[in-house]
Amino acid sequence: MTAKRIDGKAKAEQLAQTITEQTAALLKEHGIKPGLAVVIIGEDPASQVYVRNKKRRAESCGFHSVQHTLAANVSQEDVLALIDELNDDDTIHGILVQLPLPDHLDEQTITQSISPTKDVDGFHFVNIGKLTAGHTDDAFVPCTPAGCMLMIEDELGADLSGKNAAIIGRSNIVGKPMASLLMQRNATITVAHSRTKDLPKVVRNADIVVAAVGRPDMVKADWIKPGAVVIDVGINRVETIIDGESKSRLTGDVDYDDVCTVASAVTPVPGGVGPMTITMLMFNTLRSARLLAGLPG
Ligand code: NAP
Repeated sequence: MTAKRIDGKAKAEQLAQTITEQTAALLKEHGIKPGLAVVIIGEDPASQVYVRNKKRRAESCGFHSVQHTLAANVSQEDVLALIDELNDDDTIHGILVQLPLPDHLDEQTITQSISPTKDVDGFHFVNIGKLTAGHTDDAFVPCTPAGCMLMIEDELGADLSGKNAAIIGRSNIVGKPMASLLMQRNATITVAHSRTKDLPKVVRNADIVVAAVGRPDMVKADWIKPGAVVIDVGINRVETIIDGESKSRLTGDVDYDDVCTVASAVTPVPGGVGPMTITMLMFNTLRSARLLAGLPG
């Protein structure tokens, strides 16, 4: 069996096209332009790439896009003062602070200071609570699991009754919200983590596998139930020696070529979950602009 390659890049492009059209309509009919503010602190090279990609996508969707670049030694008070300003700014509908933060800043205090109505990353406890309780009408769902869910839906439909799902990783930004989303679609969920006993056996029982660990090529073909749909969230930079030269490349948590011999569909890295995550951020920002204007989300 050779699995289908789930093309996250193409799906993200399609979705971005719809968002661009809806953004133009919102401006024409209501005079509202969705505004996204991204705050980046310090000079982490990976964060700079992510922020640049988000800004580029926001602009291509027709958004008002603002970037605040703060020095690595900025004080927590100054970060909180900027977030206050953005919370009060009517031209801004989505605020995100790029993680990770320098060690002297408290991630929880900063993410929780963003107004839940502008928390387009879906990290505020109000949004987490609404998602967990199944009240997502006016909640923001974290972008990565939301994008994964759309790709799973494409493969298996919206109702996952009778399907077993294994999520590897229990982080607040991927594993836990992914479990809530899959449960709402009637899948039966196992959330595995570093203390799970016999992980391959747990994963072999799953019709849907979501790997969000941060360990290159960890999930192998003999972990996979024949025909399973496999979503690889991991982004790992690995060094390989080619012709005596050290080259770095990106790889996921899933050994793609190996798993493709057993699964029915697999997301590649790069080109799978990553582009969908950025586009879901635009989806949430457009939605925020509509909700803040009293329009349906
Ligand atoms: P995280 O907060 O570091 O969580 C990793 C999870 O993996 C933890 O729950 C950890 O278990 C579990 N884990 C670690 N080693 C394990 C092992 N040997 N066996 C089973 N479970 C193990 O990571 P994250 O933020 O969720 O991100 C996970 C990966 O996804 C990273 O590679 C990250 O770069 C990537 N990511 C990609 C996107 C995207 O848009 N594509 C978005 C977000 C994250 P414990 O809880 O027991 O420690």
